[in-house]
Amino acid sequence: MTSFYLKIVASDHVFFSGRCESLAVPAEDGEVGILPHHEAMILATKEGEVRFRPVGEGNWRKAITGRGIVQVANNRIIILVDTAERPEDIDEARAREALARAKEQLRQKQSLREFKMSQASMARALSRLKGSHLKEL
Ligand code: ATP
Repeated sequence: MTSFYLKIVASDHVFFSGRCESLAVPAEDGEVGILPHHEAMILATKEGEVRFRPVGEGNWRKAITGRGIVQVANNRIIILVDTAERPEDIDEARAREALARAKEQLRQKQSLREFKMSQASMARALSRLKGSHLKEL
């Protein structure tokens, strides 16, 4: 099976680095699947779940990620995201608190910039709760 090199970099750590067989990233208009030898591209990703299958592993690994950017070039893929967590490392209580805080901020009068930041914070919290397999939001 052919493979590609993948590196997932969050602002505070390298989440993953190694060879993979397939990848799926959350883009604005839905999930984008990427296989080896994909054509060169730059893609913006939104809050959600990045899935990838390392060489020799039967299962997909998951990263719950914040916004970011994907660069595909020469069979190497770099994903730069503000945050990346393994689903099992997500602190649900913290995500619930962040969600409540963001909702409260959205009820207040805010500048456009503050509004966008609250929206992003809410999206991060929701994707963390979804990613940690919490059913009830
Ligand atoms: P909070 O308001 O709870 O701090 P946040 O979305 O503002 O959430 P970030 O700035 O996105 O926090 O992340 C700061 C660091 O904390 C990052 O390393 C991120 O991966 C981690 N992190 C944030 N929320 C959680 C969570 N619920 N569970 C596990 N790690 C988290």
